[in-house]
Formats: sequence, structure tokens, C-alpha cells
Amino acid sequence: MKKTIALLPGDGIGKEVVDVTVEVLKSVAEHFNHQFQFNYGLIGGDAIDQKGNPLPEETLEVCRNADAIILGAVGGPKWDQNPVELRPERGLLALRKELDLFANLRPVKTFESLLDSSPLKKEYVEGVDFVIVRELTGGLYFGKPSERIDYNGEEAVVDTLFYKRAEIERILVSAFEIAKTRRKHVTSVDKANVLESSRLWREVAEEVGARYPDVVLEHMLVDNAAMQLIRSPKQFDVIVTENMFGDILSDEGSMITGSLGMLSSASLSSSGLHLYEPVHGSAPDIAGKNIANPIATILSAAMMLRQSLGLEEEAKAIEKAVDNVLNSGLRTADLADGGKFATTTEIGEEIKNALA
Ligand code: ATP
Ligand code: MG
Repeated sequence: MKKTIALLPGDGIGKEVVDVTVEVLKSVAEHFNHQFQFNYGLIGGDAIDQKGNPLPEETLEVCRNADAIILGAVGGPKWDQNPVELRPERGLLALRKELDLFANLRPVKTFESLLDSSPLKKEYVEGVDFVIVRELTGGLYFGKPSERIDYNGEEAVVDTLFYKRAEIERILVSAFEIAKTRRKHVTSVDKANVLESSRLWREVAEEVGARYPDVVLEHMLVDNAAMQLIRSPKQFDVIVTENMFGDILSDEGSMITGSLGMLSSASLSSSGLHLYEPVHGSAPDIAGKNIANPIATILSAAMMLRQSLGLEEEAKAIEKAVDNVLNSGLRTADLADGGKFATTTEIGEEIKNALA
């Protein structure tokens, strides 16, 4: 199978973790007899330095001509004082908007060998395996008006939670499609006892759910969901929710596994062109030292193989290789309890060897 993958390494450790991920993907291509064409694009600080624009048009072209996109991370102290339009983060926001990346998926899965990394008790987090599907392009973050107003002579403020029915429907469809491939359980999180937007959300969830008779649909109020994530995270399979609830719950969820360097994510678009990136940022404090944990990005690439390229077996092979390397005791510095640790490139090499 021949596929084109756009690579946007970005800044800081973004470059290091993407480099290692490309090596792993090359190895997968070799083992499974595929051809992956890698096309690079500039984004973020590097793009500002070289092109005067955090998202140059050429980069968008590279993305549009690809089957999937892998992103490292953007940003760094070098550009912190730049005017807003010349900040690296602008490049990523513009990319999400241009490509209509409306569904953010964050799998939360504990690794047997890393149970001690969680701030929660081992018996609560062992076996946790769920995914949060967060709506990314609507809701409170984009509704108009969003401003300070004069309200009968008093200072006041308004934010608007706005959704079109179609926007709610498409994120729910994404969630059910994912649930179909997993344990077939969707938890739709809302605040339907208070918000009209949540009542429409619930209505649409029921409608979409009816099209998936094999998938169990459960509604949960967001305050309860926040509590349940800590009390018994194992009950969840797919959590789907609107933009702000998802923002809050996904940060809460990410702490269940306890290690930023392990968490992958996907942002899906209606066009079928999706973007995969680690949850962590460019980590300027450790950039250039070859000590960053590349596993979040490698697991994002596994998500890409599964979701965008339909290569389930290959995705599983990567996940198994990661498991094997962790079980062997090898750790980057973020996971090692002091003492000897493996470098970014060593972890990559070992994962490649474990693929064989
Ligand atoms: P952003 O705003 O881009 O998300 P951030 O402020 O959330 O960035 P990160 O860049 O994610 O910050 O880094 C947070 C901390 O976690 C830093 O101390 C960084 O060194 C560490 N860190 C992040 N990613 C990794 C990784 N892959 N391996 C090891 N340490 C990491
Ligand atoms: Mg961050």
C-alpha cells in the first residue's frame, strides 16, 4: 500500500520525537511491505523564522496532498514576545481551522509497567482504557457574542454557547463509529438539567444512538462525570462531549495515566484528512538533549495507521512493541526514578527492534 504522510515536526522536542517516529514508521513499512512517502512542512517558530508566517501556504499544500498529518509541537521562549499573529501557536490554530479538525480524540490507557506513575491508587487505574472525544470547533469557545457589555448601566459580560445541530451530530457520529470498534459503550456527557444546548445534545445523541443498535448509549451529567473519572475510571469506553466540558475532562483524564510523555491524540476532520500529535508541547527545557519521551508521538502514529490508513495490524504491532520496551524496564528520564535512563533515539531503536 502506498500512502503519503505529511510531517510537521515544529519546534523544540517536536523535531526529536517526530524524527524517531518516522524511523519507526519506516520500519513498519518494511515489515508489512508498504510504501510511505514522507513530505515535510514548516509550522510554528521555525516557519516564522524561515517564512515570516507560522503557517505558510506551502505547508497547507503539503497537508492537503497527504493521506494523514503528523505534528510534533510548536512554540518556545524565542517567540514569546512576538506580536499575536507571529506566535507559533497561531500556526496550529490556523491549521485546525483550515482543515476543519472538529473532533479531538484522546485515548487514556494505563500501561501495566507504569501503574506507579499515576497519582491514583494502582487498583483504580489498572486496566483503564477509554477515549475522550471532544468537540473542537464550536461551543462556548467560538459563540458570538463574547464580550463585555453595558447592562442597564452595570458592567456585565456575555459568552455564547452556540452549536448547529449538524455540528453536534457529526461529533456524536464520530464517537459511535469509534465505539463500534471498541467495547461498544458511549457515555455522552452534558448538563441537560440546566442547559438548553445540552438538551439538544441529548436529543441528537439519542437519534444518532438509534442508528447504532449494538452500541450502548449512556448520558451523564458533567459534574458526575468529573467525579466518576476519579472514582471508577474503568467504567468508561468512549466519552463524548462538547468543547469546554471536553477540555476540562480530558486534562483530568490524562492524569489517570500520570505521564505527559505517553499520551497521544488525534484531531479528525469531516474531509477525512486527520492530524495526529502528542498531547505534550515543545518542552523547551529539555529540547536538543535527546532525552524527550517519543512514545506519545509513536502512539499517535499508531492511531494514524489505524484511523487514517486502515492498517489495524500495523497499529497493533507498534502498540505491542511499545509495551514490550516498557516491560523490559527501559525508560526515558521523565519515567525513570533517577539513575540510568534511555535517550529518545535509544527508545526509538528498541521499539523498532521490538517490531521484528
Ligand atoms: P504547550 O503549551 O505547548 O502545551 P506546555 O506548557 O504544556 O506546552 P510542555 O512542553 O508539554 O508544556 O512541557 C511540560 C513539562 O513536561 C516540561 O517540563 C517538559 O519538559 C515535560 N515534557 C513534555 N513532554 C515531554 C516528553 N515527551 N518527554 C519528557 N518530558 C516532557
Ligand atoms: Mg500544554
